Amino acid sequence: MVAWSPARLTVLAGPSGVGKGTVAALIVARHPQVYLSVSATTRPPRAGEVEGRDYFFVGRPAFEAAAAGGEMLEWAEYNGQLYGTPRAAVEDALGDGRPALLEIDLAGARQVRQSMPGALQVFLMPPTWQELERRLVERGTEGPAERRARLAAAEREVAARGEFDFVLTNDDLDQTVGRLVSIMGLN
Ligand code: 5GP
Repeated sequence: MVAWSPARLTVLAGPSGVGKGTVAALIVARHPQVYLSVSATTRPPRAGEVEGRDYFFVGRPAFEAAAAGGEMLEWAEYNGQLYGTPRAAVEDALGDGRPALLEIDLAGARQVRQSMPGALQVFLMPPTWQELERRLVERGTEGPAERRARLAAAEREVAARGEFDFVLTNDDLDQTVGRLVSIMGLN
């Protein structure tokens, strides 16, 4: 087992719309020593998303070449698009003694569980199913078909929450961030 030290890898998973991105951003705002991994994806950027901050937006051939070359710590296909964690930046951060945080889907979390069994695995749950649907509709980043697909994926992800070390219900943002901060040993 990897020692329970602050300089470790934490995986944050949970259904689309549960608020993983908001929680992760608040963790980094309050604890700037945390390295928040920027994933690569073939998904087109949403309005307001910034290259290199929210994602590295890449074409499928470039993604597949990087994955085949071992440059991804993990990668998965989610609703027809590829998403992956660039390995080097995470390894550099951990090598520098910084805690690293990955915000990834269930398939990615499972890969990290195999390749880095010492990583802390946290699953974020919506307070209710209705609330998850409401948040997805409210943020307005997906049309109805994509939303339906994300809710179907959410059902599969929620069903697997028992695989995780910690399950946090995101009903109060501040409380969720506080819990994650203490789980990650940041305070
Ligand atoms: P979105 O399209 O909403 O930005 O992301 C869709 C899903 O892909 C979310 O569950 C998100 O956590 C996940 N995701 C984002 N980056 C990665 C990654 O690098 N690897 C994996 N496996 N999933 C990711």
